[in-house]
Amino acid sequence: MSEGVYNPYVNAQAQFDHVADIIGLDQPTRDLLRQPLREYHFLIPVQMDNGTTQVFRGFRIQHNDARGPAKGGIRFHPHETADTVRALSMWMTWKCAVVDIPLGGGKGGIICDPRNMSEKEQERLCRGWVRQIVRNVGPNADVPAPDVMSNGKHMLWMLDEYETIMGGRYPGFITGKPVAMGGSLGRTQATGYGLIYTVREALRYLGISIKGTTASIQGFGNVAQYAAQLFCQLGGTVVAVSCWDNVDKKGYTFRKKEGINVEELRSVADVYGGINKDKARNIGYEVLDAMAWMEEDVDILIPAALENQITPDNVTKISPQVKMLVEGANGPTTPGADEVLKQRGVYLVPDFLANAGGVTCSYFEQVQSNANYYWDKKEVLDKLDAKMTSAFHAVNDLAIQKGLYMRDAAYVISVNRVAEAVKMRGWV
Ligand code: NAD
Repeated sequence: MSEGVYNPYVNAQAQFDHVADIIGLDQPTRDLLRQPLREYHFLIPVQMDNGTTQVFRGFRIQHNDARGPAKGGIRFHPHETADTVRALSMWMTWKCAVVDIPLGGGKGGIICDPRNMSEKEQERLCRGWVRQIVRNVGPNADVPAPDVMSNGKHMLWMLDEYETIMGGRYPGFITGKPVAMGGSLGRTQATGYGLIYTVREALRYLGISIKGTTASIQGFGNVAQYAAQLFCQLGGTVVAVSCWDNVDKKGYTFRKKEGINVEELRSVADVYGGINKDKARNIGYEVLDAMAWMEEDVDILIPAALENQITPDNVTKISPQVKMLVEGANGPTTPGADEVLKQRGVYLVPDFLANAGGVTCSYFEQVQSNANYYWDKKEVLDKLDAKMTSAFHAVNDLAIQKGLYMRDAAYVISVNRVAEAVKMRGWV
């Protein structure tokens, strides 16, 4: 079975069509929700340190804003495509809806590799992105955030450019800001922790104690590190993580059978979540192939790196011991592989539910920024836990009641909420 070239937008639309059939969605609402409402594609000329000018391609895509301002990250990646941004914007709509926050879905990106750019070049790129899109984003229209290879520093440059152009202070324009400059406590941990709140609830539902369970994770970036940290704190063991090696231009898996130590691995990793092979070997890690993480005999697999990682070609390599797949990344499982996992009875926590902690905390940041009043970390994480736990149970309950696969149950809840919003607004 082969699915050819994996296109996340085709996958996102296939998932949507499937659920539109399940709920019998009318044709105009289908037409409106299976593609983005608005797309902006633009060029960003950036003066490089050596005096030359390099032209980058940027995107902002707003899938749907019926439930509130569009919300979604800005991804920096050399292989970014319009279709990836379209898919991610669509998933953001469903993600905000599944956790029931009053926001729509958007996503942005720049085709670039910040690893090969100086700080100043990155700053000019961020400011250039804002200059191109300033009329179409804002605290009441579309609120960006960090994503793969973008971070708080980039967000602050973008905020500063926005505020300079608009002539005022608009801290609610962007989220993922550094805590000292209007960011929310707990945002760094939010996606990884939120994911583990759903793991905790799923294990509780399955009658399995988290103590003694094992997991293997793809990625060692923001999501993976905090997911691993909380999972270990709750008594689980992470036996392997993987990452991309930007020198060798390939991925590696880092395994320690008795359990990885997040702090220890962080000390030999760079800010992009790339682990130094030699240093990791020196502290007792086995260095294995890129996809070895998914062949481990563990209870839980957590893909938390990129989309399209679990495919019909490799899904059969997943160990029979695996009981649960929790998608930290957006779209890590292709529809063909999803079908195989469904048949096998692997319990799934789908991406836009599992990784919704990030946008939920971004929403908290937006609320705090707009109110200019900030909560302590415990308050943020308690509110996050409450939101994730309640969203998880709403999806799980529907899955049980209607005999639905967890992904379909999550989609049914989200698509119904967004469909209701577009109907109430009189759009269809
Ligand atoms: P990140 O840039 O911090 O980390 C990405 C990690 O994946 C790095 O360790 C990198 O080395 C690794 N990686 C990249 N390509 C790989 C490959 N081919 N094989 C193995 N490892 C590879 O990114 P992140 O913020 O942790 O995001 C990870 C995923 O989670 C993305 O799909 C992102 O869209 C999604 N997500 C992130 C957040 C968030 O708040 N950060 C929220 C929701 C969803």
